Amino acid sequence: MPGHVPDGSPWVPDQEWVKRTRGGRAVDRRTTETARRVLAGQRRALSVRRPWANLLFTGKTVENRSWATTHRGELVVHGGQAWAPTGVTLAAQLGITGFDAQAACPGGYLGTVRLVDIHPATGCCAPWGQQEPGTYHWVQADPRLFEQPVPGRGRLGLYWLPADLLPSG
Ligand SMILES: [Zn+2]
Repeated sequence: MPGHVPDGSPWVPDQEWVKRTRGGRAVDRRTTETARRVLAGQRRALSVRRPWANLLFTGKTVENRSWATTHRGELVVHGGQAWAPTGVTLAAQLGITGFDAQAACPGGYLGTVRLVDIHPATGCCAPWGQQEPGTYHWVQADPRLFEQPVPGRGRLGLYWLPADLLPSG
């Protein structure tokens, strides 16, 4: 069910835009809507299970998803409530320490990365890329943590954050 940003306009997960605009003239509307939100200071966010979310700021360069988006550029990373033991296992195998306890892996809005590419998994992007059929690799660069995590709930899909929720860094 869609929520609302403070100015009253509905937020729409990006996949829905893609579906709605496929082959249609709504493309212009989407572009206009995106421009309006960017100008208003809204930012794109993605909620990621912990510790995967936390690891994005310590060397993890690929996020695995079963869907793609046309968005490129800044992505605010949200550490979700859910805990992924597989993330603990992989971090340990790679010798990355400090991510084995939930207490050490904060949730909420953690920081930003730059989404630079999305492509289907084809045996690439080791060790972070998963290879299950239908997986997309979201390749990320320039991780920047906020000074402190910003409390807040995540949402499904790629979503817009209100301009006043986060620090500008
Ligand atoms: Zn890849």
